[in-house]
Amino acid sequence: HATKKTMADHLRKYETIFTLTPPRMRMIVDAFKDTLELGLEKPKQVVPMIPTFVFGWPTGEETGEFLSVDLGGTNLRVCLVTLQGNGKFEITQSKYRLTEEQKQEDGQKLFDFCAECLKTFLETNLGEGYVKEGQKLPLGFTFSYPCSQERIDHGELIRWTKGFGALNTEGRDVAAMFRESLEKYNVQAELTALINDTTGTLIASSYVNPRTRIAVIFGTGCNAAYMERVGEIHKIKNLGIDDEAQMAINCEWGAFDSFEHEHLPRTKYDQIIDETSNKPGEQAFEKLISGRYLGEILRLVICELIDEGVLFLGQNTYKVEIPYALDTAFLSLMESDPTEELLMIIGIFTHFFALETTLAERQFFRALAKLVGRRAARLSACGIAAIVSKMGYLDAGCSVGADGSLYNKYPGFADRVHEGLQDIFGDKGRNIITYHAEDGSGVGSAIIAGTRGSVT
Ligand code: ADP
Repeated sequence: HATKKTMADHLRKYETIFTLTPPRMRMIVDAFKDTLELGLEKPKQVVPMIPTFVFGWPTGEETGEFLSVDLGGTNLRVCLVTLQGNGKFEITQSKYRLTEEQKQEDGQKLFDFCAECLKTFLETNLGEGYVKEGQKLPLGFTFSYPCSQERIDHGELIRWTKGFGALNTEGRDVAAMFRESLEKYNVQAELTALINDTTGTLIASSYVNPRTRIAVIFGTGCNAAYMERVGEIHKIKNLGIDDEAQMAINCEWGAFDSFEHEHLPRTKYDQIIDETSNKPGEQAFEKLISGRYLGEILRLVICELIDEGVLFLGQNTYKVEIPYALDTAFLSLMESDPTEELLMIIGIFTHFFALETTLAERQFFRALAKLVGRRAARLSACGIAAIVSKMGYLDAGCSVGADGSLYNKYPGFADRVHEGLQDIFGDKGRNIITYHAEDGSGVGSAIIAGTRGSVT
């Protein structure tokens, strides 16, 4: 009779399907680069390459006090930013957690909540009379969903991403909707700029580190921004903006390979995530990379092995069978468990899922987390490489400002991105360095709110 497969045997199968070879990565980079170029050329492409109307780099000498409200995915962040010049700033911020209902109910209610939080923030942090009667502080609204803009203080939501689905919002001007809420709650803030977190991070990173050329977000979603010569943005030629001007582009690269599914290595777990998501077909790249999905990929593999009778025989597995029950933060914990017995992983499974594990199973889970996390980092490297190669940044090198919990908290994520860049470009890949852009979206939003888009 056939011998029973060990966990190590099972692992080999997953190693094959989750591993990206350098040649495969280079093919993805080439296709990615073409996609970026197509998005600049024509409107309404899958990767929309959105012109942000944020012009040029900051000087680092911008000063003043600005507010920022950041609606990003998991949390709502409200900040007061004081720009001090010389690349320095101070920031005071509060976080408010969003409920699932708020993400799905009426959009105006969501903006009302944002306005209320901002009002509370102003009252508790600044106190009455700080902003004089009749005065308003400039406010940058960081709204990290794809919007099409014609100017900096306006933007129509193209479509929700990252699991949001608030009603009566797609196709509408979200800046106007938020302004209405600010008025309703009588908040002393004037919305002067609507920006994406990637654009904010790009501007903020360059304020602190002038070698920055690209910004990437690895949070609930995944996206990037960079600065483009207006002459290259063929689809806005009709606006008559000087060809030599520089404008930030919000790539919305999470949509790469959506619908066609031609270029990315999707496994059957990725397909299940896609088909059961509230937006099937969309955000194909993001679904392989971002914090919202990595835990779910691992959970689906576990469920498959439960169905096959490999894992947790005789135990009640209902808790781990709940969709999205396994957060990406657990993958971080699994990978960082320093004990030989993998005690942290014992803790996760007993505490959250009421399951007992053997050492071999725990080693398997950790190895699996590594495969899923490593694939995400290497795919991210492909996206960065596409921008680097399109812009010709490889020889001189550049810095890439990065933010989001996946980048900041997942052990080894940055190293794996760098390793991926070297697999794509060889030794020259070392010229591209990512770093954590602290408070990027808040600071960037402040700089842009203060300068209304024309940064230099
Ligand atoms: P935002 O919602 O603004 O993108 P974050 O950057 O904090 O906010 O990203 C939230 C995402 O990061 C969630 O999907 C969550 O699963 C994931 N996450 C949270 N903590 C960790 C962690 N320690 N390691 C990896 N991912 C994490």
